[in-house]
Amino acid sequence: MDHKTLLKKIKLSIQLMELHDENPFKIRNYQSALISLEREDQDIMTLNESELASLQGVGKSMVEAIQQLKETDTFPFLEELLVKTPEGILEVLQIKGLGPKKVKTLWESLGITSTHELMEACQSGKVAKIKGFGEKTQNTIIQNLEFIASNSGKWLYADIEEMFGQFEDTLRVIAPDAELAIVGDFSRQMEIITEAEFLLASDELSAAKTTIKAMESIEWIMLESGPRTLRGKLKEIDLSVSIHFCSKEDFLWKKLSLIASPMHMEAMVDEKESIAKKLQKKNYSSEEEFFSINKLQFIPAEMREGYGEVELAKENKIPELLGENDLKGILHNHSTYSDGKHSLRQMAEYCKELGYEYLGISDHSKTAFYAGGLTEDQIVKQHQEIDALNQEMAPFRIFKGIESDILSDGKLDYANEVLASFDFIVASVHSILNMEIKRATTRLITAIENPYTTILGHPTGRLLLRRQGYPLDHKAIIDACAANNVVIEINANPWRLDLDWRHVRYAIAQGVMLSINPDAHAMEGYSDMKYGVLVGRKGGLTKEMTLNAMSGEEIGSYFDARLKKIN
Ligand SMILES: [Zn+2]
Ligand SMILES: [Zn+2]
Repeated sequence: MDHKTLLKKIKLSIQLMELHDENPFKIRNYQSALISLEREDQDIMTLNESELASLQGVGKSMVEAIQQLKETDTFPFLEELLVKTPEGILEVLQIKGLGPKKVKTLWESLGITSTHELMEACQSGKVAKIKGFGEKTQNTIIQNLEFIASNSGKWLYADIEEMFGQFEDTLRVIAPDAELAIVGDFSRQMEIITEAEFLLASDELSAAKTTIKAMESIEWIMLESGPRTLRGKLKEIDLSVSIHFCSKEDFLWKKLSLIASPMHMEAMVDEKESIAKKLQKKNYSSEEEFFSINKLQFIPAEMREGYGEVELAKENKIPELLGENDLKGILHNHSTYSDGKHSLRQMAEYCKELGYEYLGISDHSKTAFYAGGLTEDQIVKQHQEIDALNQEMAPFRIFKGIESDILSDGKLDYANEVLASFDFIVASVHSILNMEIKRATTRLITAIENPYTTILGHPTGRLLLRRQGYPLDHKAIIDACAANNVVIEINANPWRLDLDWRHVRYAIAQGVMLSINPDAHAMEGYSDMKYGVLVGRKGGLTKEMTLNAMSGEEIGSYFDARLKKIN
């Protein structure tokens, strides 16, 4: 233990004392001791007992605690406090602007004991509603949480997208005559971005380089840079930057090489040569021509991952990919009936305004009491409101759905006659996320086999950069969906993007449809659909295999037919 760590532990014990409402006099004693220790110029680790005791505000029990900390890295009172504190709370305590009092309020009023629960509560607007919090505090918490999540230099595509655009604009101003391309993971629309990579081709490279080196916003790391690449880090956000340089003559092959993932580069085009080898020949004058002279169907950039796309291209089996405009309605949305921010009417009117033909509302079910899950009575009330709105807003249509919790044994949490009153049911896991793979898979398959399940919601429960999904046998899950005619959601929330695109092709091959669902908890949430489409495309998703690319009429008959089959 060193001086700094020791102070941190004392600070933590004070935070925990406040959290657990310990004796205020004791808290004050610890606080004044800490102030005095922080002011101390000497290394506390070198002070003996009597030297410590002579410091202002440092009493007998604090001297004892410090001696124990020196010897055992902890002290009994701290251990006592830690035992009664959920582990995740310690992380929540680290968030800037959230003192122990606020953390205690969050814990008591919303049951928040981890950063991801806090994020979910903020995103659904629940934190703002607590007395003493408000919209502003909530936004600050979100920002700080996002910072923590991404401070390892990893960013969600959606969070970094705007920055890429600005960066590109800046480079265009710096080198107006240059040819410029975004390359690397971002050009393939990867869900997580760890580097901003650009390619710049100019006949006056040295001038461009000099200006770029002088850019205020980047700290260049010359040790990692070379004559053809500048590497560095953005100063404002934790993200690596690489700018590759080449002559205009080399621009095309360089660009194609830098867009491709390493696995795509290694994929064999014929018996002798890989994509990388073919690219080096430079015997093509456009991207399209590169593919055509190598007898390959054109492969869109986002698919150049090395997941079998070259084989597909040889057989002319790359499909026309889903576009945002193909989507005709928005399924899986929450309203104020459960934990949404906007009313059913607001959600419906905004959906219609955006040009969609239908909205699928699916508030939380009763087991999700922490998210305001609906009781049977509330369901009846919601259905009445939907019927009235449907009359008023026709031909626009609201479909009656529910996001039914999958209980630990795989059952859905309403009786069959209640389940039968919905047009569609999204079945999702929200609790007991730590099952091992076999039990977790069986649990989901039981839910999939329930005849009322229409869509399997966010299959793994992952939150990118925050929480791993639970382990699943994806093949078994997809096979079960195929056997039971269940659609799998691609949850379009940039934090989720679950089902992962790497499993989309297998699902399609088994005849399983996918649905691009924003899981919107507010009207603004609809705009996330875009990110679902991006990852769907990476997996080769087509309009034909997308549930919500159906028209309002088609999907209405689809839901009806499914229900008829049960009865
Ligand atoms: Zn959910
Ligand atoms: Zn949801």
